[in-house]
Amino acid sequence: MIKFLDLKKINLQFQNEIEKEIISVFRSGWYLKGNYVNQFEEKLAKYIGVKYVVSVANGLDALRLIIRGYLELGVFKPMDEIIVPANTFIASLLAVSENDLKPVLVEPNKNTFLIDVNEIEKKITTKTKAIMVVHLYGRVSNFNELKSLANKYKLKIIEDNAQAIGAVYKGVKTGNLGDAAGFSFYPGKNLGALGDAGAISTNDKNLYDVVSVIANYGSSYKYHNIYKGVNSRLDEIQAAVLNVKINYLDDSNAKRRSIAKKYIANIKNSKIILPEYPEEFKSHVWHLFVIRCEERDKLQKYLKKINIETLIHYPIPPNKQKAYSELNNINYPITEKIHNEVLSLPISPVLTHKEVEKVINAINNYV
Ligand SMILES: *Cc1c(COP(=O)(O)O)cnc(C)c1O
Repeated sequence: MIKFLDLKKINLQFQNEIEKEIISVFRSGWYLKGNYVNQFEEKLAKYIGVKYVVSVANGLDALRLIIRGYLELGVFKPMDEIIVPANTFIASLLAVSENDLKPVLVEPNKNTFLIDVNEIEKKITTKTKAIMVVHLYGRVSNFNELKSLANKYKLKIIEDNAQAIGAVYKGVKTGNLGDAAGFSFYPGKNLGALGDAGAISTNDKNLYDVVSVIANYGSSYKYHNIYKGVNSRLDEIQAAVLNVKINYLDDSNAKRRSIAKKYIANIKNSKIILPEYPEEFKSHVWHLFVIRCEERDKLQKYLKKINIETLIHYPIPPNKQKAYSELNNINYPITEKIHNEVLSLPISPVLTHKEVEKVINAINNYV
């Protein structure tokens, strides 16, 4: 059986180092807001190239706290609008609507799966305050185009970098392109903890000050509350694990890239549309390797039968979710087509050469 993602195998690569660190947290008697968290925030800031990092409990919190921070700073107001790609994971929308702002969906380009910059301008109103750019599947968005649009309309750019840690655009890491970025260290992400974890990165001192306080009960000085805050903290154990794994992130992203290259060079089947991989975006980090096929469900069953596990990211688009009934009657034909056709192949840093070959042959033999 070729697993879609073998988390056990991924983490066992670092078994000795991780176990040693977890034991030292255990023995330290200090479990929140300590040295490991400080060290991780510094390491991540250095890695991304930003001035400030605030660690939080998960990726959704990172995004919702960025928006909450801008609300507290008076940059956003309730009922303002944020542009969000229509085919993203639901968390990108939840972060907006939970703060009483409105997510305005924009169709992606069906070949890149990323927001179609040409479609954004039509959706900009006087209430639009920001664009949430999602580097979906670990693919780097064409940032210069987004930036000139944001400059023209004075919009903030919030990066949902949950799937693309380590990716680079023209020499700058994702997470350091916009005004602020949210990261997820959910176990299955490219940098995965052993539970939930997340972070915010920014170069904006005001935003940093606000979000770090809100994430800690709205208090910077114990029992003195400036904001009606939340409890969203990274714990020392997760920080200790991430401190080890971040050292291997570039190496594991390089392995993902080499598998993507093999898939692209060797999968040849007229029923399959491969993801684009142009030279100028060679830094994609391939959180997912997503192909398109009109007979997607049939292909998935065929692969399952020969013991190749695949997943669908995502089976239902946000505008068709019950939770977003207000969007149910708006049509997003490209998004819906994508959701009907996408299939994610196994692409993990521990996939063996033989397993990659098996996936390639299986797909080439599909009729
Ligand atoms: C995983 C993910 C999130 C949320 O991260 P959690 O840590 O699961 O809360 C947000 N956006 C995208 C695109 C994601 O893939």
